[in-house]
Amino acid sequence: MEFRLSDTQRALVGSVRELAQGRFRQRGLRWMDGTFPWENIRELASLGVLGMSVPEEYGGMGLAVFETALVLEEIAKVCYPTAMAVLGEAGVQTRVIAKYAPESIRSRILPQVCSGDCILSICMTEPHAGTDVANYRTNAVVKGDRVVVNGVKTLISRAEEAGMFVVFTRIDGKPGREGIGCVLVERGTPGLEVTGTYHTMGGENLHEVQFRDMEVPLENLVLREDGFRRLLTAFNTQRCLNPAISLGLAEGAFDETLRYVRDRTIFGKPIGDFQGARWKLADMYKDIEAARGLLYRACMTADPFPDPFLAATAKVFCNEMAIRVTNEAVQLHGGFGFTDEYPVSRLYRGARYGSLGGGASETLRDLIGKKLMAEDPGPDGILARGYF
Ligand SMILES: Cc1cc2nc3c(=O)[nH]c(=O)nc-3n(C[C@H](O)[C@H](O)[C@H](O)COP(=O)(O)OP(=O)(O)OC[C@H]3O[C@@H](n4cnc5c(N)ncnc54)[C@H](O)[C@@H]3O)c2cc1C
Repeated sequence: MEFRLSDTQRALVGSVRELAQGRFRQRGLRWMDGTFPWENIRELASLGVLGMSVPEEYGGMGLAVFETALVLEEIAKVCYPTAMAVLGEAGVQTRVIAKYAPESIRSRILPQVCSGDCILSICMTEPHAGTDVANYRTNAVVKGDRVVVNGVKTLISRAEEAGMFVVFTRIDGKPGREGIGCVLVERGTPGLEVTGTYHTMGGENLHEVQFRDMEVPLENLVLREDGFRRLLTAFNTQRCLNPAISLGLAEGAFDETLRYVRDRTIFGKPIGDFQGARWKLADMYKDIEAARGLLYRACMTADPFPDPFLAATAKVFCNEMAIRVTNEAVQLHGGFGFTDEYPVSRLYRGARYGSLGGGASETLRDLIGKKLMAEDPGPDGILARGYF
């Protein structure tokens, strides 16, 4: 086993780190009122980072899952809204377009994703159905060479900025999970409307998006049925990338805290010299290292197909670890940790997202438990899986 980054990986991480620590860290507060971090996004585009999931023939970097995770981790150390915006360009939506869209759409949209000129939005959640995807009500009806879509999506990221919406919808009223396909919708399509805004504790705004007799060309219907099963690889990849943000948030909060408890003196000595504080630091550190080990293993084995079991395990652990670590970071900053003066309050708020989206912890625990129940440990035991 090799626990070392290659020279290329080190160079990629180094350039993103320089940008993030040098510029994004200072700007962190600017995006907490829902303002989209355009400035950061443009700078990341110039490094090529927005095209991490875009194949090279369309101007992207076509990076492996592990490298994409490393980049997200660096950005999340200082800025949750920027990391989420980059995940939007590196996640399921880009993979849907790269794999299933017709060439006419791919060759036009993917270069714009790389340059930051086309932000992508993924529309899955509905007012009455988030986890319960089999109950989506949005429906797309095929009429000749057109597709007519009606329905409402909610809690949608980047709907105000998106140039293209990747919409999961029932096709021709087919019931159940298998009846869900996927339609691409360009901004400005008549019948598409962004109707409501929710401001979140993480800083970014989420929106309600409505489709009222909205028509798109038939070529925009990229998946006719069974979209979730056919996109399993993309969703499992997302389960490796979402926790990379959690890991970064925890690492950022840890670094901030280490600086703080060394500098701030109480009762005549630095906070970090009290045993109670040192034990907290040690627990935070071991939590982060354990999470990193799990996540890197899931990511390094994720191409071409992530192991759903490893990805889910890493996601649950990293998401919950980030909540624990950022919480202790705020605690060790005392009252100042609760103010906007110190980044830990922002990192703490961002950390709360991970376990809610991209497969909630409850759903993933169910998946992990079911798989364990279905496996025969055999003479080697289940935990030897994949090592020997
Ligand atoms: C910051 C942020 C960004 C988001 N961006 C997007 C986006 O861009 N596009 C989009 O489509 N959606 C987005 N969402 C929505 C997100 O995907 C949903 O919130 C998520 O899928 C959960 O759905 P829900 O909120 O309807 O919760 P529900 O499905 O109502 O679940 C509520 C609770 O029940 C739990 N639960 C579910 N199933 C089980 C079970 N079997 N056993 C026990 N407990 C269970 C869940 O884990 C959760 O804790 C975003 C959400 C947030 C917070």
